[in-house]
Amino acid sequence: MKRLALGLAIVLAAMATADAQTADRLHVMDCGHNSAKDQSLWSPGINVGKPIEQANTCTLVRHGIQWLLWDTGYPDAIAEQPVDTPVGHATRTRTLAAQLAELGVKPEDIAFIAVSHTHADHIGNVDRFPAATLLIQKAEFDWAFAPGKRPLFKKDRAMRLLEGDLDVFGDGSVILLSTPGHTPGHQSLLVHLARTGWIVLSGDAAHFRDNWDNDRVPSINTSAEQTHESHARLAKIVAEKKAQLWINHDLPTFEQLRHAPQSYD
Ligand SMILES: [Zn+2]
Repeated sequence: MKRLALGLAIVLAAMATADAQTADRLHVMDCGHNSAKDQSLWSPGINVGKPIEQANTCTLVRHGIQWLLWDTGYPDAIAEQPVDTPVGHATRTRTLAAQLAELGVKPEDIAFIAVSHTHADHIGNVDRFPAATLLIQKAEFDWAFAPGKRPLFKKDRAMRLLEGDLDVFGDGSVILLSTPGHTPGHQSLLVHLARTGWIVLSGDAAHFRDNWDNDRVPSINTSAEQTHESHARLAKIVAEKKAQLWINHDLPTFEQLRHAPQSYD
């Protein structure tokens, strides 16, 4: 009888794995705010001299017994000490650490961190998760750690250097999409949830809605051609999956979303 019960448990577990084509839940976290004086830094020739307020978002995804953290935002230290950067005034209302603690998630509970790219406002807290495996495109890593560049996080860590897309959990529920152009190895995240459906987290493929709608290329992007290709790729996926598009720095998007400790499932 015991053996039968065990057998049944194994079969049920196998079925659960086979059917697990959605992540369990997703939390949107506040990872900072940028007050920029000139929107045209991102939209050459458009809205020159017009200020813009920008969100900075981190996202935590639960899959089975594992957590994946997508982007890590500004360093938590900015909560204590806001800084002026070349693109604006950076602040943090809450630390990432405090938002994780509120959810009962310890840094060592996080199996994977994936970063859209290596600009300072996305990798600020990577070193807080030394036990997690960092998922980053090889092209991005090679660019970020090129000779003469100041390293922004410790490269001596568990890491997977990707060359293209990655089905993170092997069941199609959480997929990293190679979307270069903003930087050489920029990537986006596609998540499937049971009730919410598909979501595209586009990182900095576009910085705000108007740039997305008009396929604009910020002057700091490393390739205009790749940026256009990545926009087209993401637009196709959004249409095919009837996905929601969540643009990381787009403040109206951030304000419309439910924030941690609330969740999407
Ligand atoms: Zn960026």
